[in-house]
Amino acid sequence: MSGIRFPRRGGWQYASRDGVVVSCWGLPAPFRRAFLTIAANTRAYYRTLFGAETVPAVELNVRMEPGLPLRLWTNGADRIYLTLSNKSQLAPAPKSGVRHVHGITHELAHIVLYRALINLSELAEGWGEGWAVYLASFWAVPRLFQRHGAGLWPYPYDYRRFDGPGRLIEQFGATSEPPSEPVPRAVYDLYRLEQGLGSKEFAARFRSMLRRRMRADDFNERIAAALRRLPREGA
Ligand SMILES: [Zn+2]
Repeated sequence: MSGIRFPRRGGWQYASRDGVVVSCWGLPAPFRRAFLTIAANTRAYYRTLFGAETVPAVELNVRMEPGLPLRLWTNGADRIYLTLSNKSQLAPAPKSGVRHVHGITHELAHIVLYRALINLSELAEGWGEGWAVYLASFWAVPRLFQRHGAGLWPYPYDYRRFDGPGRLIEQFGATSEPPSEPVPRAVYDLYRLEQGLGSKEFAARFRSMLRRRMRADDFNERIAAALRRLPREGA
């Protein structure tokens, strides 16, 4: 999770703007620029939604080198790490199965929640992951697409569909049963909350909770209470 730093030899290249540093090893320049745009814009969206303190300056560290595992993770505070072994893993998601636009927006969402809450081990099961899936899919990806279109990724594709809300909305059609697994259930509950409250009120509620350095168990209770107050489906 924390503190893994790769040795800084001559091959590292850096790009930065708007509170984001992208440090890359072995990555073609168009992808370095795409990662920087994705991370900088998403950081700005989350700060607008939840307050300027929610995402500090962050470093995205991307290393592509033969033999490295395909892996993406965050220290939950200010660093995101991505390792890749070859260029085929940068192909558009429908071809490669690797959703980089979702991935970066997802890790930044983890940082928002993990920095805001204390006593994190009490966070309801599935909520850490569900929150990141929801924010990435429903907030960041559609906004990125609206602003930059398919060409944000150097191999353009419809990342709204593959990295965004498309397949999740299909799953959450009005007649479907709530999912039973913890992560899909958290995504579903967030979806219900936003549908029930409206996007503006949804963001305002979370902004008010995240600003308070709230205990995770209090956060769980508030969400459960907000869900109980929503009109019952089908009622
Ligand atoms: Zn995650």
